[in-house]
Amino acid sequence: MVQTTESESRKLLGRLRDTMAEDAAGQARLDKITHLTADSMKTEVCSVYLFRDEDTLELCATEGLKPEAVHQTRMRLGEGLVGRVARTSNAINAADAPSEKGFRFMPETGEEIYSSFLGVPIQRLGETLGVLVVQSKQARQFTADETYALEVVAMVLAEMTELGAFAGEGAALSARHQHQVVVRGTTGQEGSAEGHVWLHEPRVVVTNLVSDDPERELERLHEAVERLRVGVDQMLEGAVGGDNDQLQVLEAYRMFANSKSWMRRMEEDIQRGLSAEAAVEKEQSTARSRMAQVTDNYLRERLSDLDDLSNRLLRLLSGQGSETGADLPDDPILVARNIGPAELLDYGRSLKGVVLEEGSVGSHAAIVARALAIPLVVHAGRITTEALNGDHIMVDGDQGLVHLRPDDTVVTAFRDKMAMQAEAQERYASIRDKPAETLCGKTISLMMNAGLMADLPSLQGSGAQGVGLFRTELQFLVRNKMPKRSELSALYARVLDAAQGQRVVFRTLDIGSDKVLPYMKPNDEPNPALGWRAIRVGLDKPGMMRMQLQALLRAANGRPLSVMFPFVAQFEEFRAARAEMDKAIAREEKLGHILPERLEIGAMLETPSLAYAPDQFFDEVEFLSIGGNDLKQFFFAADRENERVRRRYDTLNVSFLTFLEQIVARCKNTNTQLSFCGEDAGRPVEALCLAAIGLHSLSMRPASIGPVKHLLRRSDLNAVKAAIDEARERGDQSVRGAVMDYLRSA
Ligand code: PEP
Ligand code: MG
Repeated sequence: MVQTTESESRKLLGRLRDTMAEDAAGQARLDKITHLTADSMKTEVCSVYLFRDEDTLELCATEGLKPEAVHQTRMRLGEGLVGRVARTSNAINAADAPSEKGFRFMPETGEEIYSSFLGVPIQRLGETLGVLVVQSKQARQFTADETYALEVVAMVLAEMTELGAFAGEGAALSARHQHQVVVRGTTGQEGSAEGHVWLHEPRVVVTNLVSDDPERELERLHEAVERLRVGVDQMLEGAVGGDNDQLQVLEAYRMFANSKSWMRRMEEDIQRGLSAEAAVEKEQSTARSRMAQVTDNYLRERLSDLDDLSNRLLRLLSGQGSETGADLPDDPILVARNIGPAELLDYGRSLKGVVLEEGSVGSHAAIVARALAIPLVVHAGRITTEALNGDHIMVDGDQGLVHLRPDDTVVTAFRDKMAMQAEAQERYASIRDKPAETLCGKTISLMMNAGLMADLPSLQGSGAQGVGLFRTELQFLVRNKMPKRSELSALYARVLDAAQGQRVVFRTLDIGSDKVLPYMKPNDEPNPALGWRAIRVGLDKPGMMRMQLQALLRAANGRPLSVMFPFVAQFEEFRAARAEMDKAIAREEKLGHILPERLEIGAMLETPSLAYAPDQFFDEVEFLSIGGNDLKQFFFAADRENERVRRRYDTLNVSFLTFLEQIVARCKNTNTQLSFCGEDAGRPVEALCLAAIGLHSLSMRPASIGPVKHLLRRSDLNAVKAAIDEARERGDQSVRGAVMDYLRSA
């Protein structure tokens, strides 16, 4: 029985392939497919429903239902049995369809005379494109074999849709991956870029779906799986003693690679006439649609491991993929589900832009993209399914938009915008060596934020007067082991060399919250931003902090050194951290190392509490830098990582500015050097207001220095301050409107 079904199904696939090869219009092809399928499955009806738009399915071809219903009958996602198959990505097999829950009768189709119903999703890589249905008068359950056979036809249909076999018949049938797609994500790093897609994990394009020679295909599958197993075993051997997460992934790979049921399902698909590649992809597709449905994180990760493994197997079978030497385009825009910071660093500045399907604003990859000044869009839903290697792509990091295969109007508008930005950059370059001196004669010191050796060339290029914040956590985040003291010290020394005597403020390790080290056990904290992070970790586990302080002292090797501690919430914490520095100095002295010629020790003001520390704190600390990103999130109680609230409160809100003014006043009274190094320092209007309330040293990403300087040089801080004061007196919530009015009038 199974044998007959298998040969039937092989015969059907062969006929489908011939249909593909024929030179016919899309609709004629679809009609033929429904005819062949009904004939082969001995059912009276076979129908194809495809998505017309995101939530409408349309009857696109039928054998057995009334022909006038084609392109007329539509249903919403979830509506009726067809809609339910599409929504759940699960087959429905009903002997008596009209009595099934959710059944919806479509009178125009004439389906009332059919009792049994079998519907399977038409899906490709976890994305449902439509539903394939067979119906018959006789009330009977379809067998598992029949379901299987229909799924195989659905898979071929999906591939044919993908290859454009039904193009030219309206949106529902148009070739996928050929038309323009706009994906709305979230800004990870501003800037615009145009280029060509480079998939971090390239998708193998399977074109040989059907095969007449199952024995040969089985052999190919077995050979490839064997190579896959050997490869996984080798990776496991190489990873012994390494990091736990990686081991867990590899163990999952091994489990799947040896899974008998996975193998059996693929073998059965081949027996039914699929090629080895198509059989692997069919399994992958099922796993992906399950992945979209499970909420358990652990299970999702394992399904994603299976997905990776399927990709490897496809690459082995087809000889396509990254290992086969495909060339990176000249203007690559990296597209990936997610990427680790180390991998992103490997690509380095060769990338024009990065688009991630997952990722987050505060992810390590985002930190690296920012350090490399590469436009980044995160949360770009479905981008890895939509994009193909080499596709034309435009990334608008400012708006968090991605235009894939853009049409001419978009291309023109986008290029105009980029040209305007380039013109502005030229303007900024012309003032690079000029001071940020305002019309009222005040000179503001503009420094840059950095975190990588790769940032240092920007020091000269941007005209920054030094590094106001060097985030040291990146060196810890991009490795899978703790860096050694000698490595850190060599790196810090290179940073100081590159700065050529300009001031560099090193911030000690700021981990915890969103920055979790791969080799440190993560803490399950309900509110990580308010949790065990930064200086709190440093003081509780002083080993790491001591090592870092020593590395900094050695790197200075007699040169001046500035160090600041992050996230200090009270005086005592600063004292304790400073005592660690004193101990480190004593140790270094004893070991005969040269001490810095001058040592400045400061703190970041990132919690409101520190603004109200006793005067003695202000006397003791040599400088303070306001970490506006954190300070603002605590001031407004609005999580900086939460898309829903992170933009809710304006930095130029009167309450926040008034608070900052109090800090400025305390620093003035105690003669404490003060600067501001949060992201807001790099936004021209915000920077102008900060300068107007007395923050005369600002540290920002290098690309912001030009625009900020340009605005400062054209503004009068006294007038801006007057506008701020008037807005406050008027009871405005934010001073933005008043300041913008001033700028327009000036
Ligand atoms: C800040 O909080 O403003 C800051 C500069 O530190 P980070 O963004 O690294 O937390
Ligand atoms: Mg901070």
